[in-house]
Amino acid sequence: MRGLMQEWSLLASKLLDHANSWHGARPIVARDAEGGIVTSDYAGVHRRAKKVSNALRRAGIGLGDRVATLGWNSIGHLEAWYGTIGIGAVCHTLNPRLYTEHLIYIINHASDRILLADTFCVPILADILPHCPGIETVILFSGSEDIPQLPFPARAFEDWIRDEAEECAWGGFDENTACGLCYTSGTTGNPKGVLYSHRSNYLHALMTLQNDALRLSARDCVLMIVPMYHANAWGLVYSAPAVGAKLVLPGQKLDGASVYELMESEEVTFSSGVPTVWQMLLAHMKETKSRFSTLKRVTVGGSACPEYLIRTFHDEYGVEVIQGWGMTETSPLATVSVPNARIAKLDFDAQVPFSLKQGRLLAGLELKVVDDHGARLPHDGRSVGLLKIKGATIAKGYFGGEGGAVLDGEGFLDTGDIATIDVDGYMQITDRAKDVIKSGGEWISSIEVENIAMGHPKVALAAVIGIAHPKWDERPLLIIEAKKDKRPSKEEILLFLKDRIARWWMPDDVVFVDALPLGSTGKIDKRGLRDRFKDFQVGSGA
Ligand code: ADP
Repeated sequence: MRGLMQEWSLLASKLLDHANSWHGARPIVARDAEGGIVTSDYAGVHRRAKKVSNALRRAGIGLGDRVATLGWNSIGHLEAWYGTIGIGAVCHTLNPRLYTEHLIYIINHASDRILLADTFCVPILADILPHCPGIETVILFSGSEDIPQLPFPARAFEDWIRDEAEECAWGGFDENTACGLCYTSGTTGNPKGVLYSHRSNYLHALMTLQNDALRLSARDCVLMIVPMYHANAWGLVYSAPAVGAKLVLPGQKLDGASVYELMESEEVTFSSGVPTVWQMLLAHMKETKSRFSTLKRVTVGGSACPEYLIRTFHDEYGVEVIQGWGMTETSPLATVSVPNARIAKLDFDAQVPFSLKQGRLLAGLELKVVDDHGARLPHDGRSVGLLKIKGATIAKGYFGGEGGAVLDGEGFLDTGDIATIDVDGYMQITDRAKDVIKSGGEWISSIEVENIAMGHPKVALAAVIGIAHPKWDERPLLIIEAKKDKRPSKEEILLFLKDRIARWWMPDDVVFVDALPLGSTGKIDKRGLRDRFKDFQVGSGA
């Protein structure tokens, strides 16, 4: 017997419809390319997104066509996003930090037809467009008067939508229709496209609104630092309109001073970003002896959250740090580290080890840790294995069939992460499978060693990689970027680690570098480090 409930398709564009109807006057504020502040609201973005839809239709874009965006978080970007998905076209977000060859590959692989880009991307476009014959139209997020001299044909966004009608029917297609396309960075092999559906994005938005997730509400003012090209800005592109939170878009300026200034001027209560962003902000706070007037919570994800971030935000500024884990393939949020009833009763110091874990599973997903033969491992906090995930917001394959079949016999996706799950249900990533260090047949968690090293007051960033060893196969090498004007010695770092990690986890050597290389999503590029240090001889570190 079938239920007698209405069939109301879960279209992601309905989340902006909802914001327009119920939170229409809630502001959306952005920093533009020149550093000035521009303001709109949900009703305004909704209206102009419809104009985008009409402009796209006029350009022959319809159901399933790919429309690419290349830019930072801005109001135009948001309008282009919803204007695209509202008519069933696919919004393909491109990361401006990717290498030219990757961008060309991705654009051609996705068969993008229209490309909307920030004006600062003009030099990138000049390089890539000759190699992307499928791009029919280029639109720059600007007014006509601001459009620079261009080596290729392009139109200004404002001109492009100016005469379009503000009415446009959205929807009318199946909820499983493709909605967004986001390529993973391809740290191994070619980038692979994750193709979200309206249904998956809609459900993900609702899932992230569980109280034990980010606790977003209509009272929040959200500074969306995580870029829109990074897995739907961790879902905020949908969840902020869903609850009617004020939305602040920082554009390109993500340095500590700029972020702090926006937080104060817009009365931000909540923000999301990778650890490096928070590190820059905290350094600025310390240097300028500043205080937050309104900030309550920040989420950290993308890579493991160092302990000092949690402690500094809490101890010095009374700000709660919520760690989340996910990946492009998981829409992205899947686990969140917020206390359960038992842990909530502990004092702050006793809670920290749990905040450092990647957290508990959102309702709506299934998660397992398995051994090399696929057998489930117990939730004992010790058994380490491959992390696999299943649910309506999890990819079942890649665009164009890249990578072949990716699900196991039970329909779970292999995350490529190595993890444990404890009795309280907290999942902890110990490594990415490709970064694992196996020494004498035992795994050493590079993430844990890095986090502890980053607790040293003179260390800004730390990375641990495996180097070849004749007896143990691999041994850990610790690579450190010191804080500005600090010069830690190898001995003091090793002494700091000594009582904090197992003896056989101790790095065989410590190397100091001016700057650790960061990948296109702000994570430390370990593949690059492995290449650089592949012939490293123990004892040659500084
Ligand atoms: P890529 O980094 O390959 O572009 P994603 O952005 O999808 O791809 O990154 C997903 C990966 O980032 C996860 O598989 C995991 O290894 C890592 N990650 C994400 N959040 C966390 C976290 N809180 N702690 C540790 N690792 C994380």
